[in-house]
Amino acid sequence: MMEAARQLLKKHFGYDEFRSGQVQTIQSVLQGINTLCIMPTGGGKSICYQIPALTLQGTTLVISPLISLMKDQVDALNQAGIPATFINSSISTAEANDRMELAKQGVYKLLYIAPERLESTYFLQELRELPIPLIAVDEAHCISQWGHDFRPSYLHIRKTLDYLGGQPTILALTATATPQVSTDICHCLSIHEQNTVVTGFERKNLSFSVIKGQNREQYLMDYVKTNLHESGIIYAATRKTVDQLYAKLEKASLRVARYHAGMSEAERSREQDRFLRDEVTIMVATSAFGMGIDKSNIRYCIHFQMPKNMESYYQEAGRAGRDGLDSECILLYSSQDVQIQRFLIEQSTDPTRMSFELEKLRQMVDYCHTENCLQSFILQYFGEKEGLNCGRCGNCTDDRELIDVTTDAQKVLSCIVRMKQRFGKTFVAKVLTGSRDKKIKEFGFQVLPTYGIMSVYSVKYVSDLIEFLIAEEYIGVEHGKFPTLFVTMNGKDVLLGKKTVQRKEQRTTTLIIESDE
Ligand code: ADP
Repeated sequence: MMEAARQLLKKHFGYDEFRSGQVQTIQSVLQGINTLCIMPTGGGKSICYQIPALTLQGTTLVISPLISLMKDQVDALNQAGIPATFINSSISTAEANDRMELAKQGVYKLLYIAPERLESTYFLQELRELPIPLIAVDEAHCISQWGHDFRPSYLHIRKTLDYLGGQPTILALTATATPQVSTDICHCLSIHEQNTVVTGFERKNLSFSVIKGQNREQYLMDYVKTNLHESGIIYAATRKTVDQLYAKLEKASLRVARYHAGMSEAERSREQDRFLRDEVTIMVATSAFGMGIDKSNIRYCIHFQMPKNMESYYQEAGRAGRDGLDSECILLYSSQDVQIQRFLIEQSTDPTRMSFELEKLRQMVDYCHTENCLQSFILQYFGEKEGLNCGRCGNCTDDRELIDVTTDAQKVLSCIVRMKQRFGKTFVAKVLTGSRDKKIKEFGFQVLPTYGIMSVYSVKYVSDLIEFLIAEEYIGVEHGKFPTLFVTMNGKDVLLGKKTVQRKEQRTTTLIIESDE
């Protein structure tokens, strides 16, 4: 069975071998097993349904939310000699009807549709007349309310499956599923969880790093100037920042393009083309840029500001190095960005999802503060088994010494407990450093034995230490009206002297004692 599949791979796509996750997924699908395939962007998910579509009798239905990409995908298939078409809002009703008629005559091996189509009972009736051996659900995380990109139209897929009477095999595909989201996808699409194929989240050619406590603009300028001839993307959180950075880079005579949703479509596509054709080396953009971009020689991806969750980060950073050559993914961290992202979430999120989004943001912040391997952090986040340290990231290559900070950690944890686990990071840090903030007196915290026991440090240093203890899960964060800190089981072990805490030696600048604010 796989031999025939391999021949089709060669014939239509020109590749000699499947990648490892592709073999497992295709085998599973060809055996008629409902399957969930989780592979990073660029991993090669499309082949996982395109090859089965060629061997199975009938028309494979591909559900995808990316209307703007459907035409390109279908054109590419047609060029590879595979009959395929799409039906979505970009074509007229007459054209859609024509295509449906041809589909019924068995002309196409693949039919791409947008999920909104499934809202029409008429369309569902039409589908019933097609032999559909396989339904591929692309961007399957959109079905989960716990995903970072939930789309209500995806809920119609469940109804469609019921309507079609359980005949087709289901293949759900996504690049971004945490364990919770993959459970949800499986539940919604009748997939047994053991039929999940997760592979290849590790990108061995990418080295990740988080830069803290530096002037970001200066860092960025220095970086792009020393990498003048390399292609790179700079992501910023807002259109305004994109415009500002663009202006600065252009003033410095760098070859730069920009992209954000505030620009006209013509401008955006012109800028995108300039970057794709290597007329410029740098693209400054918001997260609006990059979907479906297959530029292979991107050598670096710098996040000028922290994104709102790990899914977005890994997807965007992962656009670097698609050709397999060494590339860098750098995140420039500033604690202000946490406030910006929190504000954006609070403005735009429906209240039922608020604490969920804030928790995702929390994990993004944890990534910025962990002192363990960054690649391992990412793999664990996406549910891959704990691997070895990558040896390439900013943390693995950080040669500062590990020092024992157990006593300081105990002071922090003990203070959190004494403050009844009802306060946030900065306030705890203020109590520990003996701040004269009025609020401390109001709560009577100046009499706590932990008041001022870390007065040799600055509030900033203690806040950073707290962030580190959160990232290492000694401290948890509860997202109520305000985020409040509590001591986790791990943290309790530290308080009881059962665990020690090691931290990379801090650079001396962070130890300078600040005067009380
Ligand atoms: P995804 O949908 O997972 O982001 P794609 O399906 O677009 O990824 O594939 C990414 C790239 O990898 C494409 O250029 C594709 O042609 C290529 N590719 C896929 N499978 C293989 C393979 N077995 N061998 C070599 N290249 C492959």
